[in-house]
Amino acid sequence: MDIVLDHKELIKYPFLKESQQLARRHVESLEEFLGSSPGAVALERAKERVFAAISPKREFQDENAQSLKPELEIASYALARMLVSCIGDRSLIDRLARYEAERASFFLETEDPEIRQFVAWSIGIATGAAAMPVADYVELVPHMRDARWRLVNRDVRQGSVKLEPGELDELIRERIRVILLRQLPLRVPPGICERLEPVTGEISALRQQQVLEQFGEIKEEAFPPCIDALIQAITAGTNLTHMGRFAITSFLHTIGMNITGIAEIFARAPDFDLEKTMYQVEHISGGGGTEYTPPSCATMRTFGLCANRDKDCERVSHPLSYYRFKKNIKKKRS
Ligand code: SF4
Repeated sequence: MDIVLDHKELIKYPFLKESQQLARRHVESLEEFLGSSPGAVALERAKERVFAAISPKREFQDENAQSLKPELEIASYALARMLVSCIGDRSLIDRLARYEAERASFFLETEDPEIRQFVAWSIGIATGAAAMPVADYVELVPHMRDARWRLVNRDVRQGSVKLEPGELDELIRERIRVILLRQLPLRVPPGICERLEPVTGEISALRQQQVLEQFGEIKEEAFPPCIDALIQAITAGTNLTHMGRFAITSFLHTIGMNITGIAEIFARAPDFDLEKTMYQVEHISGGGGTEYTPPSCATMRTFGLCANRDKDCERVSHPLSYYRFKKNIKKKRS
């Protein structure tokens, strides 16, 4: 398509090839850029982007209110992706991709039809029709949770899925999210990650605080029976399966227990091996670059880890929901 976006438009859609080219014209060496004052400004804005991505509230600013130079605003998008890639926390990466997709979608809603069409075309979506070819549709919707997106619930005629007003916007947003997610984590050189450490440290601390606020103080008495059973097994010196160690470590990590706290639980085993335990705990807690979420009840059952089910288990489909539920009851009673 033959359209030239101006700088004000490019900052709204920093993932576009044209936006990246603009930023690249101003940043020759990343090392040098990070050491410069424009680099510091862009990094600060990148931090704001990540903070906004993990904030429970979504607020997007009109692009005219942005005081940064367009190239720095776009560089901040690239730096934000580096920050979450260096941290390696999957939930942070997901949130940033979602935030960037929602931000672009916010601007697209009020965009000129020509520009809207260009952005949609750039990500492989044709606008202007009230239907979409089934093959394109099926590729877009696998992660859209609402049952209305399932193909069996759609009006499909002559190989096309009919779209209701407004649905195309949702599909564009999802497409942007998936594209951004596929590109992450970026392979950031270790030296750059080291350089970004003061900022990644701040982000990790905020994320940790959020987790703690979400789950509050750790209460062993609210642990689900399966997790209790795993702790008992460790204390008795039973050799846990890999999935058992994974389930307990990822559960404790998600509710906000730090690595030392988790290692202390493993230290209840008579044959406790500090080095081996720390390696495994750090790996499952995100030290290997990927943070794992604990398995659901269905998965726990499949691996024979759903032990001592009680009546509260009937209300939940995830050990984390059990824990949250039990903690709330205890809070109300106290
Ligand atoms: S039902 Fe879920 S929470 Fe309850 S014991 Fe089984 S896995 Fe744990």
